[in-house]
Formats: sequence, structure tokens, C-alpha cells
Amino acid sequence: MSIAKTSTPRAMAAELVRTAGVRMTRQRRAVLEAVLGSCDHPTAASIFERARQILPGISLATVYNCLETLAETGLINHLNFDNGPSRFCANLEPHVHLIDDASGTVLDIHLKTGLRPEDVFDLPPGTCITSMDTCLRGRVPQKSLVIERK
Ligand SMILES: [Zn+2]
Repeated sequence: MSIAKTSTPRAMAAELVRTAGVRMTRQRRAVLEAVLGSCDHPTAASIFERARQILPGISLATVYNCLETLAETGLINHLNFDNGPSRFCANLEPHVHLIDDASGTVLDIHLKTGLRPEDVFDLPPGTCITSMDTCLRGRVPQKSLVIERK
């Protein structure tokens, strides 16, 4: 699923909902906008704070329910790194995650143009990759930790 990356979170949410066919409540829309408006792989608690800016009466339990529904419908990605809190990613393009050891910042990393997972990993012959859920860790230069919406 690919949408115009120059759209606002509200426009992207509307477009995603149309294509996913999920019933969009005000609460789901607020949560989706909160996730789409961020590139820092926020936790549910962080999304709750952001969603409250959009829909002040929303509860944390509702945010959790909305995140579960949005992840199940494929509108966002639900991430688990080690024993930390779940995080959520709005980037639906194939990518892996790079976690900076020092800050814990999570960056989206895409394959270099023209490469496929089969070109990078020593996969069993005949394997067909349907998604990527890989996590890399390392020390990332400070200048590369500035997260901007692409
Ligand atoms: Zn991501």
C-alpha cells in the first residue's frame, strides 16, 4: 500500500481507510493520524498523548483497542523489540529497523535501490519473501538520528 508522502496525516488517514475498508470511527481516525504524523515509532503511551491533542476525550484503553484494529487491518505495523513496550510504525513500505544502542532511537532502513531481500540474505532455495521484520542494532552517528518525514 503506497500513499502520497507529501499528504498531511489527516489526508493520509482518509486515503488509507478508504483502501483498507475498515469502519473508521473518530477514535480510530485520531489514533491513525497520531501514528501517521510521527516517524519515531511511538509507543502506545506516546500515541495516547498525541491522540488526545486531536480528540481530547479519548481514553488509553480506546487507544490500545484502536492500535490493535489498525494493526490487524494492515494500516500500521505493530513492533516488539526485546522486552520493551510495543511500538508502532506507519511506514508500510518494505523496510527493516535500526535501533541506536545509545539513544534507543528506531530508524526505518530501506534496501538499496534494485536490491531484494533475496540478494542480501542467504535464503533457502525457492523461498518467497512476503514481508520483512528484521531489527538491526548499532551505534548510529548523531546527525543520522534526526527523524524527518520522508
Ligand atoms: Zn518502521
